[in-house]
Amino acid sequence: ILVGDVMTPMAAKISEGASIDEAAKLMLEEKVTHLPVIAGDNRLIGIVTAWDISKAVALKCSKLDEIMTKDVITACPEDYIELAAEKMKRYNISSLPVVDGGKRVIGIITTDHISTLMARD
Ligand code: SAM
Repeated sequence: ILVGDVMTPMAAKISEGASIDEAAKLMLEEKVTHLPVIAGDNRLIGIVTAWDISKAVALKCSKLDEIMTKDVITACPEDYIELAAEKMKRYNISSLPVVDGGKRVIGIITTDHISTLMARD
């Protein structure tokens, strides 16, 4: 099974100029806890998660740039799902934005996808 077979395509994303409030609202609207942060050309430049929003509240940060993680661990659609699971375990993260050769975001894979696969009959 490949990442491209099970990922959520058209994942919710947020642009780099957005505020932390906007990121929090988008997470609620889209019912997600991970948002890839993109530049104008859909290129991945960071990731912000519910954990980072907690950090923003605790540390009273106001800019997305201050709380997002810029060194993003990603997956390719051609990767085996086992490799994606291994990366999430190794880095203690629960999602990987899926990118094409130009680092443009084409989807997302999360630990939810892995548990759904594991629970399949
Ligand atoms: N284990 C929890 C989880 O998976 O969400 C929380 C710990 S994890 C270290 C939280 C941090 O990981 C956040 O600062 C978030 O921005 C970062 N993070 C989440 N996904 C990431 C990814 N694909 N690449 C790099 N950092 C990521």
